[in-house]
Amino acid sequence: MICIPITAISNKEALDDIERSCRIADAIELRMDLIADGTLAELITAARCRSNKVAIIVTRREKEEAARADENLAGGGKTKDQKDKKFAVLKQAIELGADYIDIELACGVEAIEELKSHCARRGGSTKIIISYHNFQRTPSLTRLKGIFHQCRELKPAVVKIVTYARRPEDNLPVLNLIPYARKHLQEIIALCMGDQGRISRLMAPSLGNFLGFATLSPGTPSAPGQLTVTETMQINKLINGAEPKQNPPVLSGEGSQLRNYILLGNPVGQSLSPLMHNAALNDLGIAGNYNAFCVSDLAAALQGVRGMNIGGASVTIPFKSAVMEYLDDITDDALNIGAVNTIINSNGRLTGANTDWLGLIIALRQAMRIEGMKFVIVGAGGTARAAAYGIMKEGGFPVIVNRTTENGKLLAVKFNCPFYALEEIGKIEADCLINTTPVGMYPHIDESPVDSAVLAGYKYVMDVIYHPLETKMLQNAGKRGCHLLTGLDMFVHQGAEQIKLWTGREPNRALMKKVVISSLHRELSL
Ligand code: NAP
Repeated sequence: MICIPITAISNKEALDDIERSCRIADAIELRMDLIADGTLAELITAARCRSNKVAIIVTRREKEEAARADENLAGGGKTKDQKDKKFAVLKQAIELGADYIDIELACGVEAIEELKSHCARRGGSTKIIISYHNFQRTPSLTRLKGIFHQCRELKPAVVKIVTYARRPEDNLPVLNLIPYARKHLQEIIALCMGDQGRISRLMAPSLGNFLGFATLSPGTPSAPGQLTVTETMQINKLINGAEPKQNPPVLSGEGSQLRNYILLGNPVGQSLSPLMHNAALNDLGIAGNYNAFCVSDLAAALQGVRGMNIGGASVTIPFKSAVMEYLDDITDDALNIGAVNTIINSNGRLTGANTDWLGLIIALRQAMRIEGMKFVIVGAGGTARAAAYGIMKEGGFPVIVNRTTENGKLLAVKFNCPFYALEEIGKIEADCLINTTPVGMYPHIDESPVDSAVLAGYKYVMDVIYHPLETKMLQNAGKRGCHLLTGLDMFVHQGAEQIKLWTGREPNRALMKKVVISSLHRELSL
């Protein structure tokens, strides 16, 4: 559900905003603290006349409540006059048949019980949202769970917990509350405010958040970090496909079937994995989606993966090795390679796997025979280790070539294969050359890790880079008549193997390839 807060400063402007909002939103929130001369009866009548499907939430916030909420959850710092005004508005909202009233936990048990009784006396059609706002920071998950239970004990229809995110990982404990609440059969609105909290606004709907807030137009947020309703709809459409996805109501007990997947890395802004994985998950009809997380605290991020309903994660630069110490189990492939690019979450138990080697091998297998062939691997990093491992497993013979002798020799010793310095590459005779360095990757598209003349000796040349699709090295190899393999197939197959590990199902690899190619072409044409 998308809810538009009505925050206009006059009754007249609020009526205009209600008229527009009721055409597009599922709910509106009348902020009676901001609509200075607001007449609640007029506003509710206007909304009902426009649509009887749009839910009406009424609230009146006091700044002091939010400011003191963290230290003093009950009775936080209101004057009697403020309290009286607040209760008059909320009681009137009940009498006028608003769908929900939102009252802060900080108002205290007595006040909340009084409103609930008022509601019951009036026929009980208005439901109660009990909320906690922290405009300064995000408390720990333990603290947030404590606040959740304090709210829940008062038996509201919905618990609302909104905190301020100072760093990306602050989103994790707050998002964690959504599956937690659903397990307790409690509807919840859990979000982070602020620019760093935007990711929570994007992920929360697919985790089962009761509703999310969006502004009618840019520059009118009722809380920092809010997106516009148009942006929210566009993003939901991108994530969920053409049809907006409705979360099952919490009492159906189906919340646990929603599974989400994430990418952990830093940076992740340019990654095409979310696009590719979401296309595949959507095509399989799997409820849930895949989002990228820019991580600065890996331990906290993994705690989030364990606690939240995250089915699995992709791991990228710079965490492929560092992540291993936080996992419960590691597959033999990943242990031998010394890197994890995939995490599988089975009820909180995290297993690390590696699909990079398999993605590369599937791409190679489609073009050539691997057994008995000799492969020059340029580079000695994580991808080179995956390549060497996969080639040996398939009965091929790797040769390591690297810029830094020490790193190259270490890898060659590990796999008991020859090593050559980069300057000596012309001395080697082999069937296939594979670049596993980032040289030639966008935006450095005019660079190549090896001289063009060297390529003439190879029947097959592969680049693990897929942006651009055809690197400078591949262009040079093409001119010399080599058979070319781009990094795109490896990228698609390593991603498809991740989805198989997470869901047990075979994704549509052709579709995954198509969406990545379209995106790369779109980017090039911009
Ligand atoms: P990494 O662990 O950092 O290793 C990079 C290697 O490249 C190192 O051996 C480094 O040599 C070498 N290198 C870096 N800059 C160089 C330069 N200017 N000249 C010569 N050698 C240079 O990185 P990685 O994780 O293996 O990733 C490497 C590339 O693979 C990235 O471009 C990544 O995007 C791509 N990749 C693609 C896929 C796919 O699915 N297509 C999957 C994984 C990775 P030194 O030892 O001398 O530092």
